[in-house]
Formats: sequence, C-alpha cells, structure tokens
Amino acid sequence: MTKFNFDVITLFPKAFESINNLGVITRALDKNLINVNLHDLREYGEGNYRQVDDKPYGGGSGMVLKPEPIYKAHDSIDKLQNSKTLLMTPQGQVLKQQDLLRWSSLDQLIIICGQYEGFDERVRCLADEEVSIGDYVLSGGEIPSISIINGLTRLLPGTLGDPGSLIDESHNSSLLEYPHYTRPLIFKDMKVPDILVSGNHEEIKSWRRQKSIERTLERRSDLIANENYNNSPQSKRIIKESNQFMNFRIGNEYDIYPDW
Ligand code: SAH
Repeated sequence: MTKFNFDVITLFPKAFESINNLGVITRALDKNLINVNLHDLREYGEGNYRQVDDKPYGGGSGMVLKPEPIYKAHDSIDKLQNSKTLLMTPQGQVLKQQDLLRWSSLDQLIIICGQYEGFDERVRCLADEEVSIGDYVLSGGEIPSISIINGLTRLLPGTLGDPGSLIDESHNSSLLEYPHYTRPLIFKDMKVPDILVSGNHEEIKSWRRQKSIERTLERRSDLIANENYNNSPQSKRIIKESNQFMNFRIGNEYDIYPDW
C-alpha cells in the first residue's frame, strides 16, 4: 500500500506536535500509512534575520507573508505523481466531507498555512485549491491543516479500527447520522429507545434511517436542499424519503422539494 504524504509549509511547525496525540493520526503514523513532513517557512526566509513577512503595499495594519520564502519552500518539496497543493484561507471554498474523500485517492497533499494578515496575493498561483474550514477567521492555517490531515487520514484504509463506522456517518451522504446510545440502559431517567434493544435488525435499520432524516430536516435541511442539485439515485431516494417523512409527521400533503 502506498503511503499518503502530507507536506505542510508553516511558520509554526511546533503547532503540529499535537497530531502525535490524536488517536487516528497516531495510529496511522505508527502503521506507516501516512507521512507528515513539516517545512519550516523560517528556513526559507531572507537575509540574516530569515525574514518571511513584510508590511503591506498601500499601507494598513498587520504583516503579510512574502512570496519568495513560500515559493522556495514549495519548490523544495518532492512532488509525487498524484499531488495537489492546498492553500489555507478563509476566502477559499468551505471544506466538505466530499473534498476529503476526493483527496484521499491522491498520494500527496501539500498544504500552505498563512499567518498574520495572510500572504502576498501571488502565492495563490501555487494553489490547486483554496480551502477554508468555515466562515470565521483564525490566526493561522495550522489548525485548518490539522483538520484536513485528521479528516483525511481516518478515510485511509487501515486507519480506523472499524471501517464500518465510515458508512453511516454524518456528511457521507447528505444526511446527518442517527443518534447513538451505549450502556447503561437508563441514565438519569432517560431510557434507550426500546427498538435498539429489540434485536430486530430490520426495524433498527429503518428506525435509524428515519432518525437520520428527521435530524437532518430539523438541524440542517440545507443539506437535503443541496442534494436537490444532485441527480444521483441516492439523492433522489433521500429526498423522496424526506418528503414521505414530513407527510407522515405533519399529516397532510407536504412536499419540501416538489420537483421530486
Ligand atoms: N486577512 C485575511 C485573513 C488572515 S488570517 C483575510 O481576511 O482573508 C491568517 C491566516 O490564517 C490565513 O492566511 C489562513 O492561512 C489562515 N486561516 C484563518 N482562518 C481560516 C479559515 N477559516 N480557513 C482556512 N484558513 C484560515
């Protein structure tokens, strides 16, 4: 099996020490399923002071990462055949589970972390994709890239104890996952639903499916709405079931997405 390579360009390599203590990543590193190569931007800085940032042209607050050190660091990385470069930026496309799945078939992700006010605009030319982890601003790209390393690593064969746990989970389809319970049967007067201890696997399956749909409609109906644009048999089925579920709950004709 080929190893998945993460090459991260960062001014704060120490921020990545935590990944050795993150369960799935630790296991993947131990089993040699992934390599995480940290490229300290400072080493590519300019002059005696290894300068990596400078004031913005046109004035304004904060410092901007210079382009040369980032280009030098990027050039120094051995590129594997199936490789992509991601630029961490709150201006990028918001990360989705589908992106992690898509990238998991590559051999390498090169991840560029910004800092301060961000990076010189010309750095964008290095990126195959610009990625945001959500509509908020962090102080650097390190936490976003750890999210990507973590989320992608758990999709690689051999990293999860039970690969079955990937099948139903939230965001794999357009549905959130059903509720989970473990022992004890009764906790603070809250009882595990009878069906889960009934032993009837067919009924458990359909209960879970229904809860999944119910949950998604209640919390993230936008996910199902987005599915509307996707013509796959899977999405048609989800939308049909959601409509049926809403009809059942409201008790009259109710079509959230009448097109289906
Ligand atoms: N002034 C910039 C933000 C700079 S934040 C702007 O308005 O676009 C500093 C760095 O942190 C960014 O360059 C980026 O690498 C990282 N960062 C901050 N928030 C992020 C997010 N939501 N997703 C991905 N990277 C982020």
